Formats: sequence, structure tokens, C-alpha cells
Amino acid sequence: MNTFRNKAPWAGVPPEEWNDWRWQMRSRVTSAEELAKILPLSSEEQAGVERCLRHFRMAVTPYYASLMDPADPESPIRKQAVPSVRELDVQPCDRADPLCEDAYSPVPGLVHRYPDRVLLLLTHRCSMYCRHCTRRRLVGGEDFSLGEEQLERAYAYIEAHREVRDVLLSGGDPLVLPDSKIEGVLRRLRAIPHVEVIRIGTRTPVVMPMRITDALAAMLKRYQPLWLNTHFNHPQEITPDSARACAKLADAGIPLGNQSVLLRGVNDNAETLKKLFTGLVQIRVRPYYLYQCDVSRGIGHFRTPLAEGIGIMKQIRGFISGFAVPEFVVDLPGGGGKTPATPEYILRMDDREAVFRNFEGRTFTYPNPVR
Ligand code: SF4
Repeated sequence: MNTFRNKAPWAGVPPEEWNDWRWQMRSRVTSAEELAKILPLSSEEQAGVERCLRHFRMAVTPYYASLMDPADPESPIRKQAVPSVRELDVQPCDRADPLCEDAYSPVPGLVHRYPDRVLLLLTHRCSMYCRHCTRRRLVGGEDFSLGEEQLERAYAYIEAHREVRDVLLSGGDPLVLPDSKIEGVLRRLRAIPHVEVIRIGTRTPVVMPMRITDALAAMLKRYQPLWLNTHFNHPQEITPDSARACAKLADAGIPLGNQSVLLRGVNDNAETLKKLFTGLVQIRVRPYYLYQCDVSRGIGHFRTPLAEGIGIMKQIRGFISGFAVPEFVVDLPGGGGKTPATPEYILRMDDREAVFRNFEGRTFTYPNPVR
């Protein structure tokens, strides 16, 4: 049993509760006061957390909190979960909706940016609110999930657009929804003949692995081909629990991919990322993308200069198996889409900005962060 777990306020929690995802959801740390019970916070830090929580919500599952070293203020787990007063620094390049998803939304909850695929944002809820979230304009605000009427509008749009062959379920985190709701969506999408592939984007294997129950894996197995992308950012997130969750999904025949974000002070060095990527393939998760951190509001302290990410990838490629190396991409501000940070796509780069040509041949600018 994890020693951290034995501390207040979770001392004596029986394993059947700890391993119940609904208990994890109910028991999340959501206030500065609760946080102070599990982490030593100076009064200044506590005041900073309180100020931040007036703008952005916090929720940390007991499981994810148990991965933090309470004595280490630099813990990469802590930095991803605990609000910082730096989130209140809004930089001139910051945008509420950096990927312009709202502009590409033909009906509520649906984003149609790429030719053959759509994104269906089923809920704004997550089990843990990542401090670096790109969708923080939606996520972590009010609890919201698409209702039946809104879902029907989304299905009608997909039915009418025969070019859509791939539907990505995301949010928020779709796996905070009950199995019956997820199954209803999968069943309905599977009934649309031109939908070839369904994907799920979820961080639950990382932040609340007990959500991956046998029943959930068995249900998902019925809707193949179904792919699942998760979001590990640091090797400390690869634990026996998260490995078990991924094994259940892989054993159900679901291919697993991982999308990491390059985060200053969390994983911005080659050694950490090599350990992460090689650890992921050991638990049958293929590293898929490494994202340059987006220009979402209040996450500038996580951003690294583009040249740093490119340099880190040079120290990784060739040094570990090719299939363990993800593509380093920038999701271009203004809706340019995911674009590899390679010379073919970068037209020009200086300390101030990088100009990219995207897959459509259009140019977009990424404001280069200053170290
Ligand atoms: S799980 Fe994904 S959507 Fe939810 S807060 Fe984290 S990054 Fe944002």
C-alpha cells in the first residue's frame, strides 16, 4: 500500500473503496483547504491556490495525489495537478480557444476541422483538471455533458457528411461518463455505415486507472475498430495501477496511443522523455504525439521555446526504438491543425515566432516562447 495513501485524509480507506472509481471521483481534492491536508503549503502558496481557484477549477483524484512526493515542491505530478498563481499571468499571445475549435463547430459539441474526421466533445468534466489543459475555456468550468437532443444533432451531422470516416470522442474526459452513456454513443455511431473508426481520448488510465474496469473493457471490445489515446507526460505516471488499466484495454484488442505535452519543469529533457517513451511501449502504449504546449490562457509558464523541443527530439531519435519515438507537433494557433515541427513545415523561425506551412499549404504563426 502506498505510504502517502495512509496519510490523512485517506488513512484507513478500505481497498474496495480506493479501487472504486466512483469513490475516487467523490473524494477528489477540490479546495485549497483540502489540499493543505495532503501537501505542506506555505500561507503564500495557499493564498495563491485560492486566487487561482477563483478562475480555474482544481480536482485531483486521491490516486493521482498519491503519486506526488509531498516533500518535493518540484514534483512533476504536483506541477500538473496543483494550481499555481502563475496561471493568472496572461501573456499577449494567449488565446481562450487557441485551436479555433469553436469556429469549426457546426453543431454544439462537434468540431469538424479536418477533412475526414470529427471531434465529439461529450462532456466538459474530467477526473483531474490538468493545469496545462488546452481546453480550459470549457473544461473545469461548470459540469456539463451533451444531452440526448444535442447528441442527436451531432449524429445527424455525421450521417449527412459521408466524408467523415473517423470520430474522436473527447471532452473533457469521456470516461467519466457511465458505461451505459458511453455505450449508447458507441452503438449509435457504429450504426452509421461510413464511420469506419471510433477513437477515444482519455486521461483516466493515468489519473484514475481504476475507471478501466473489466466491464468497461468488455463493453468497448464490442465496438471495434476502436482506438484509445491516453495522455502520460512523465515516467512517474507509469505505475502498476496504470499498467494494469492499459493491459485490460490492450487485452480487449484496443490499440493504445499516447499524446504527451512538452511541459517546462515537468518533462522538458531527453532523459525523462526517453524513460517515458520506453516505459510506455513496455505497457503496450505507443507514443504517438509529443505536443508543443499550446497558447492557451494562463499556461505560458509551461511553454518551452520551439528549438528546445526540436533539440530534445534529436537526442531521442535513433537512441531508442523507432516505434517508441512520437512525432513532435505544434497544434497551430488559429486552427492550422497539428503540424510536425520539422524543416519541411517550418518556413522560418527566430526567437520571436515560427512560421509554419500546414497540410493545406496555408501559413500560421506560433509565437515562440522565451526561456
Ligand atoms: S484530462 Fe484532458 S481535457 Fe481534462 S483537464 Fe486534462 S488535458 Fe484537459
